Amino acid sequence: MNLDPAIADLLPEMTAWRRDFHAHPETAYQERRTAGRVAELLTSFGCLVATGLAGTGVVGSLPGKGKRAVMLRADMDGLALDEAPSERPHRSRHQGRMHGCGHDGHMAMLLGAAKCLSARKDLDATVHLLFQPAEENEAGARRLIEEGLFERFPADAVFGLHNWPGLPAGKMAVREGPMMAACDLLQITLHGKGAHAAMPHQGQDVVLCAAQIVAALQGLVAREIDPLDSAVISITQIEAGKTWNVMPEQALLRGTVRALRPQTRDFLERRIHEIVSALALAAGLHADIDYDRRYPATVNAKGPAELAARAAALVVGEDDLLVNLPPSMGAEDFAFLLAEKPGAYTWLGAGREGDAGLHHPAYDFNDAVLPIGASWWLRIVDQFQSTK
Ligand SMILES: [Zn+2]
Ligand SMILES: [Zn+2]
Repeated sequence: MNLDPAIADLLPEMTAWRRDFHAHPETAYQERRTAGRVAELLTSFGCLVATGLAGTGVVGSLPGKGKRAVMLRADMDGLALDEAPSERPHRSRHQGRMHGCGHDGHMAMLLGAAKCLSARKDLDATVHLLFQPAEENEAGARRLIEEGLFERFPADAVFGLHNWPGLPAGKMAVREGPMMAACDLLQITLHGKGAHAAMPHQGQDVVLCAAQIVAALQGLVAREIDPLDSAVISITQIEAGKTWNVMPEQALLRGTVRALRPQTRDFLERRIHEIVSALALAAGLHADIDYDRRYPATVNAKGPAELAARAAALVVGEDDLLVNLPPSMGAEDFAFLLAEKPGAYTWLGAGREGDAGLHHPAYDFNDAVLPIGASWWLRIVDQFQSTK
């Protein structure tokens, strides 16, 4: 492990920032206290600070002598989740809100890097430190882009980091191509004619059709997607009927669709419409299908992925850098930034024995990895400056 010496000295400070964020989680677009603290710290380091981007976003800029610029991104939002009771002094003070994805740690690491970078007087590249709102579900990155992020802060490359409890602390993983999947939301409402449960021929059975749809959609993944490609359809919610002897008039199905490749995503969307419409037609029902494209896949460009890997190898060493780890079928709104600019998204191993995973009520960011992630940020800037 090769921690940056300046970063190693910042561990107590980064830990304090992280735990303060953890104690005061704020959900999407509500990150006002968080953004205020981030802006205050960036200002104290000497960054040029812009606030109010996409509502609560903050950018700290460190101008370089040269023409090129790099954007480093951390996310600021917590989850709408009750933190499990614990003796942690920094446990959430806000009921129903929790830093359950480690964005508290992401901010602390980028702030640590910002403090070190701002002390350097020899930056060649301009560094934009982006603290973005609403990574979870609400596409804060897309809103930033729509509101002119890159016109205001032009960047030649973007980099992002996420702690990864499924990977042991001390390891990092980054690869060219997809790191995380596209995530869409599917909602189907079946409308039919209710009837006495003993006289089904007098009505139309939305429950039977709902069951056929669930099975057919699994068949779509199993039989129409190349087994070497990746796709997931999970129907997670079914609502129909109020009692046992009445056939209901309506059934609601909801779920999520994941794919790594844009072609696969397009294919699934088209086939879901065809299959659901055909099954509804066969049952004499009407189907409303709402397919909501949420996040695209998070896809790393070749050059930046190699740059991120070199930076990671300099910190954790070649042996603890994984460049062939399979992608996750989870999703990430850094995808929107990667759709605009070449860049790379990297996983920071954070796993400890017995730890809860991301989005679990007992999760807590592993402070031991703060200096690893912050050192990686510094190496990203070094590598960016030395790579033309
Ligand atoms: Zn999350
Ligand atoms: Zn997250």
